[in-house]
Amino acid sequence: MSKINPNRVPMSEENAAERVKDFREVAHGYNEEEVRREADRCIQCKKPKCEDGCPVKVPIRDFVAAISRGDDAEAIRLIKTTNSLPAVCGRVCPQEEQCEKMCVIGKKGDGVSIGRLERFAADYEMLKGPAAPVRAEKKGQKVAIVGSGPAGLTCAGDLARMGYDVTVFEALHAPGGVLIYGIPEFRLPNSVVHYEVENLRKSGVEFRSNTVIGKSFTLDDLFQDGFEAIFVGTGAGLPRFMGIPGENLNGVYSANEFLTRVNLMRADRFPTNHTPVMVGEKVAVIGAGNTAMDSARTALRAGAKEAHIIYRRTEAEMTARVEEYHHAIEEGVVFNWLTNPVRLFGNEEGWLTSMECLRMELGEPDDSGRRRPVPIKGSEFTIQIDNMILALGTSPNPLIPSSAPEVETRSWGGIIVDEESGMTSRPGVFAGGDIVTGAATVILAMGAGKTAANGIDRYLKEERLKKTQS
Ligand SMILES: Cc1cc2nc3c(=O)[nH]c(=O)nc-3n(C[C@H](O)[C@H](O)[C@H](O)COP(=O)(O)OP(=O)(O)OC[C@H]3O[C@@H](n4cnc5c(N)ncnc54)[C@H](O)[C@@H]3O)c2cc1C
Repeated sequence: MSKINPNRVPMSEENAAERVKDFREVAHGYNEEEVRREADRCIQCKKPKCEDGCPVKVPIRDFVAAISRGDDAEAIRLIKTTNSLPAVCGRVCPQEEQCEKMCVIGKKGDGVSIGRLERFAADYEMLKGPAAPVRAEKKGQKVAIVGSGPAGLTCAGDLARMGYDVTVFEALHAPGGVLIYGIPEFRLPNSVVHYEVENLRKSGVEFRSNTVIGKSFTLDDLFQDGFEAIFVGTGAGLPRFMGIPGENLNGVYSANEFLTRVNLMRADRFPTNHTPVMVGEKVAVIGAGNTAMDSARTALRAGAKEAHIIYRRTEAEMTARVEEYHHAIEEGVVFNWLTNPVRLFGNEEGWLTSMECLRMELGEPDDSGRRRPVPIKGSEFTIQIDNMILALGTSPNPLIPSSAPEVETRSWGGIIVDEESGMTSRPGVFAGGDIVTGAATVILAMGAGKTAANGIDRYLKEERLKKTQS
C-alpha cells in the first residue's frame, strides 16, 4: 500500500476581501483531480468507524471508494440511500464533530474530508440531473407535514417514496426552513435548497406555503380534511432576548429577523425588493455560535463598516464551527471576549446609538460544564453602535403546542415524542427536529424526520389492519 498523505487536500475559497462585497459562496468545492486524491486517502477500514459518527448512517466507506474509482453516479446513489439532502449536509454539517472525528487516519494526521467528498458527489448530481425518482405504488393515504425545514423535507421525501400522498404546510412563502431563511447564501446557496425541494415536488410531494398551522388550520382541521397522520417539524424559531433596558430601540434585531430579512426577503436589494433592513456603520452581534458568525458576516455584506462579536465568555467556550470562526476573522469581524452588554441608549427618534457593557472574568463551571462568566465590578464602558443583533439561541415555536394542548411538551416548550417512532402523546401526530430537541443541527433534524417517517408508516399499517379486522 502506498504511503497515506497525512494532510487533507485543501479546498480553494473566494478571496476574503472580495467575497465580503457580495453573497457568493465562499468555499469552491473540490475539482475532479482534488476529489480523487482526497478519496484515495481513505484506507477502507473493515469496520468503518466514520459511519458510527454519522447520525443518518451514510455508507461512507463505500461512497468514498466509488469516488476513488471515478464512479460518481454510484457515490451519490449510495449516499442517497440514507441521506436525502447531501448537497446541504456536505456544506453545513459539523463533520469535524461527527464522521470525520471518528476517522482512523485522523489519529496521525488529518481525517478524510468526508463532508467535502459528499458535497462533490451531490454537486455532480445537480450538474448531471437526478436519477428518476423511484415511485412506489400509491397507498391512497394522506399525510400532512407541518414545517419545511430539514426534518419536514426528509419525512416528506421518505413517505412519498413509500407511496403516501404527502402535503407540506409551510408558514413562510418559501420552503426550506432555516436552510433558506437562516443560513446565508455564502455558506449554503438558496439554489441548492430549491433544487432539493424541486426533487421532492417531482416525486409527488405537494407544498402549500403561507399556511400557518395553529392559525390558518388546526391539527383537528387537518385530520377532518382526510390526513391520517401529521408530522410536526416546526423548528425552534422563537428568538431569545437579554431583557436589558433599551432592547426595544430601533436598530435592535433578533438574529432570526435580521437573517430572514436579508436571506429570504433579500433586503440588501431594497427598494427593488420590498423588505428593508437598516444597517448602520457599526454593528454589534451578541453571542458566539454559528448564528452569531452568520449575522456578523451578513452585516458586513449588507453594508456595515465594522461588525463586532460581543461574547461574555472566551474563544475556548464559543460554540461556532472553527471553520466559520476563521472565515469571520478573515473577513474582518472583530471579537470582543469577556464582554456583556447591560444597557442600550438611543436618540430622540428612538434609534440605538450606544451600549454600556461590563467586563467579565471566568468563575467556576456552571450546569453546561463551561466556566461561568462573572462581572468585574466597576468595569462599565460604553461603545457607540448603530445596530445590535441578538444571537443568543432560540426556543421551540410555541404555536402548535399552544393550539393543541393534547400534544404534551417539556417545561422549556419542546414536544415530547416516543424515541422509537417519533409519535407524540396524541395518536397519529408525530414530531421531530428542533421542535423536539431545541436548537440543534441539520443532520439531527433529518434523522428525526426519517425516524418519524418509519413510525408513521408502521402506525398507518396498524390502523389499516385494525379497520379491516373490525
Ligand atoms: C443562522 C443559523 C445557522 C445554522 N447553521 C447550521 C450549520 O451550519 N450546521 C447545522 O447542522 N445546523 C445549523 N443550524 C441549525 C439547523 O439549521 C437547525 O437545527 C435545523 O434547520 C432544524 O430543522 P427543523 O426542520 O427542525 O426546523 P427549521 O429548519 O427551523 O424549519 C421549521 C419550519 O417550520 C415552519 N413553521 C414553524 N411554525 C409553523 C406553523 N405553525 N405552521 C407551518 N409552518 C411552520 C418554519 O417557518 C420553518 O420553515 C443553524 C441555525 C441557524 C438559525
